[in-house]
Amino acid sequence: MMSDLSDRPAKFFSRLQALAEPLDGLDLIKLARDEIGSSNLALVSSFGAEAAVLLALVAEIDPAIAVIFLETHKHFPETIEYRDQLVARLGLTNLVVVEPEPSQVTATDPNGILWRTSVDGCCAIRKVAPLAKALQPYRAWFNGRKRYQAETRAAIPKVELDGSRLKFNPLAEWDRARIAAEFTRRSLPHHPLVPYGYLSIGCAPCTTAVEPGSDPRAGRWATPQGQNLKIECGIHI
Ligand code: SF4
Repeated sequence: MMSDLSDRPAKFFSRLQALAEPLDGLDLIKLARDEIGSSNLALVSSFGAEAAVLLALVAEIDPAIAVIFLETHKHFPETIEYRDQLVARLGLTNLVVVEPEPSQVTATDPNGILWRTSVDGCCAIRKVAPLAKALQPYRAWFNGRKRYQAETRAAIPKVELDGSRLKFNPLAEWDRARIAAEFTRRSLPHHPLVPYGYLSIGCAPCTTAVEPGSDPRAGRWATPQGQNLKIECGIHI
């Protein structure tokens, strides 16, 4: 196992890229486990509409891999219930709930309505800064982005450099049909808001239902006029 990325980062990364390219799903997670080590890995999950698939795959490889959930204090109550339901059902043993720094919230968003005037500022204190701190103990992380979800995600690689860390995208090649088939094959429960048209689920103030057939992320940071204030929260640069 090669676990110290600081030793020979460029050489290690290019070798890993070559190994990762033909893999996805379980095989890519296994590669990460074998090359990086379970205790150096974390999965960052929103416990949103499609999150159960990656959570199930990671649980199958090692249920003790850390699962980081960003508790922004703006989630739908259904998301918190779903999170706890999935953690129990999949036997995940290392849920890490990460909250914003209270002093930063007090200073920047004392009334909890910063999202109304600055979604970037709100995401910065409730998501980006807490995640950067939470990832410090880990050498690599998994996330559930898929190429089909949005134009901005059409070219995401299987593994990429994220500062001094590696970021694995085990579902990069998966499309909506394959995700749906995996839900069925594993009898995974759906997020309670999916039947109501919520196909990509984040914080409640910044998530709306979308029309059937729309870009699943069209309901994120959407204005009443149908425009999107932004398309990514800032944790994926
Ligand atoms: S998604 Fe919305 S509520 Fe959540 S942290 Fe970002 S701006 Fe704030």
